Amino acid sequence: MPIRTDPWLALANSSISRRNLLKSGAKLTAALALGGLPNLLHGASKRLSRLQADPFYLGIASGDPTSDSVVLWTRLASEVMIAANAALDAVDVDYEIADSRAFSTILRRGSIAATPELGHSAHAEVRGLDPDTEYFYRWHIGGITSSVGRTKTAPAANASNQEFRFAIASCQQYEHGFFTAYDHMAAEEFDLITHLGDYIYESSWGKVRVRAHEGPEIINLSDYRARYTTYKSDPDLQAAHASAPWAVTWDDHEVDNNYAADIGEDEQTTEQLLMRRAAAYQAFYEFMPIRLPIGRQGPSMPIYRRLRFGNLLEMNVLDTRQYRSDQACGDGRKPSCMAHQDRSRTLLGTAQKKWLKDSLATTDATWNVLAQQVMMASLRSLNESGEELWPMDIWDGYPYERQELLEHLDQVKTPNPVVITGDIHSNWAADLKLDFDKQSSKTVGSEFVGTSITSGGDGADMTDYGRALLANNPHVKFYNAQRGYIAATVTPTLWRSDYKVLPKITEAGAPISIRKTYVVEAGKPGVQEA
Ligand code: FE
Ligand code: CA
Repeated sequence: MPIRTDPWLALANSSISRRNLLKSGAKLTAALALGGLPNLLHGASKRLSRLQADPFYLGIASGDPTSDSVVLWTRLASEVMIAANAALDAVDVDYEIADSRAFSTILRRGSIAATPELGHSAHAEVRGLDPDTEYFYRWHIGGITSSVGRTKTAPAANASNQEFRFAIASCQQYEHGFFTAYDHMAAEEFDLITHLGDYIYESSWGKVRVRAHEGPEIINLSDYRARYTTYKSDPDLQAAHASAPWAVTWDDHEVDNNYAADIGEDEQTTEQLLMRRAAAYQAFYEFMPIRLPIGRQGPSMPIYRRLRFGNLLEMNVLDTRQYRSDQACGDGRKPSCMAHQDRSRTLLGTAQKKWLKDSLATTDATWNVLAQQVMMASLRSLNESGEELWPMDIWDGYPYERQELLEHLDQVKTPNPVVITGDIHSNWAADLKLDFDKQSSKTVGSEFVGTSITSGGDGADMTDYGRALLANNPHVKFYNAQRGYIAATVTPTLWRSDYKVLPKITEAGAPISIRKTYVVEAGKPGVQEA
């Protein structure tokens, strides 16, 4: 049996050990992100006495909980730093943790350096917390206090926990609508909110735009920072971040539409795309409540990782963009071609695939989640002459690696595999078959695909596209193309996915309702209508 690595060591692709990094402290961690900053290594960070304006208006967040730690995040607004004559300085930001919103008893206090090199973002990895416990946190700097966030640690790895509730979100094109879904999500105070990518969009598209990006397509670090600032200014998104810890991964639009490793969408050289990727990945770290991935260097940033929530659930957070082979046959929906039949093509890349297969072979959790971007169940269609078309950007475009993974799930008997997916701006529920061409073939897992928060506009319950794909893919049980999110409630015997949708997102304040519920019974792979 392979040796299981610690979830955070799993991030390591470098020779720098996590322990040494932690011993050196947070300032060094921040410095290493950029390959060393002499002033920080000498410990010079400035304590600001009095600020004239609120530096916390991009909100607060927490993420990647373990049973004894969580990452707290905020970011100091650049104009406030400029006004305070601290634009080029590392500054101390203080945090507090309490057991209630009133902060009558402060359980922990700490300080972290926010550096100009990382856009004055602050990431505090707070350790020594109790498992399965709700905490409240806030930040202070220069006499100003942030709003209060709620977070929650994971149950102990071997806990017999009886319920886990989490939300599945993806795809939030700011121009396409209001983030009303997040306002509803915040009210649910989930144990976790999982974001499967397309948190920002690098360019404008779509006919209906109810609000505007701050600029055109983004290329360099200051562009990406400005785009995240636009998105992070949204009050509904801020409310969702303040309501629960998040586990985030990225899809394509955090860099460039449908990019594959070092190949971009439009005319750009590999060098240009890699420069862009380095900027985009850095901005992602700066704006997200995640630990600094060990092994980050320029355009390389391993973010695949494992989160564990007691004996009940283990979540493998994947990255299907950074390491993938280029889309075959010119991308899009195409008939199969020679490149598509190349067995060496990959969506996960060698290292991530090995790590994932080890994880799935050694897990003892009841439910094993693959939190990832693109739809895994086959979603082929027929053109007018009856020829089969394969969507080349999703797992259908990488059929041999999909087969390898599904056969692995079967062979190693991974308990209750559930794939959760974003990207496609519509809700789906599907059985994962050993052979998608045979309805009678074995179902080895279940897939829940969550719709977008806004991307694609108001949408519709049913479309011609959805109807045709349901008809051609009998393993796919449900389709809906409204906006919203999935609320998942997981117990030792049942996984329940409530597809929550809004009638409109082009107007603010719409109500939310459950469109449909699909469940998976433990020990019985496949989705069932509730
Ligand atoms: Fe998207
Ligand atoms: Ca996408």
